Amino acid sequence: MKKILLLVGGGHAHVYLINKIIKEKQKFKTILVSSSQYQFYSGMASAYIENIYSDNDIIFDLKKLCKLGEIEFFEEKVIEIDPENKNVILKSGKKIDFDVVSFDTGSELKIDNKYLDKEKIIGIKPLTNLKKIKEKLGDLKLKEVRFLVIGAGAAGIELSLAIKELEKKNE
Ligand SMILES: Cc1cc2nc3c(=O)[nH]c(=O)nc-3n(C[C@H](O)[C@H](O)[C@H](O)COP(=O)(O)OP(=O)(O)OC[C@H]3O[C@@H](n4cnc5c(N)ncnc54)[C@H](O)[C@@H]3O)c2cc1C
Repeated sequence: MKKILLLVGGGHAHVYLINKIIKEKQKFKTILVSSSQYQFYSGMASAYIENIYSDNDIIFDLKKLCKLGEIEFFEEKVIEIDPENKNVILKSGKKIDFDVVSFDTGSELKIDNKYLDKEKIIGIKPLTNLKKIKEKLGDLKLKEVRFLVIGAGAAGIELSLAIKELEKKNE
């Protein structure tokens, strides 16, 4: 029986690995579990928000990608790990056994402030939230609202500039 490599999270790093698995025939079976079938390429995120790129340009389909390499795909969230018995439990209750497991679940923003209106706050991670942010911006009269970008890393700055440009385009 083939050994099982389990990949948890269809993040940028695992996509690179999947690409290698597709190119080089492997003696082991690979399974990918990710909470969304779709992944957004972050390098194009700010330009996507600015309407330079569309959904088709930035979103890729993990399920389709897996099919190219006979990789089994589950659109699910891993909620429990049993390292001794070498298995993980998915939100649906399904159990998946593995020989080797790799985690690439990225980072997530925990917004947990009861004084803030959660409808008005969107964390950029997971990157699937980009679609929510874009839709929200599309619903607003940009000149009439104030935006707060929390986090002045490269992504925060890029995103602030993209929103500013969007505002100018909509004048
Ligand atoms: C606006 C913006 C612009 C950026 N631009 C750049 C750039 O130009 N260049 C660059 O190098 N980096 C850029 N980054 C950073 C880049 O996005 C991250 O470094 C990268 O996404 C990290 O990849 P990752 O593989 O760790 O995880 P991610 O790509 O975040 O993916 C993690 C995946 O795991 C899934 N997942 C999470 N929990 C579970 C679970 N329990 N079970 C199953 N699946 C799960 C998630 O749904 C997600 O699909 C940018 C980030 C932002 C926000």
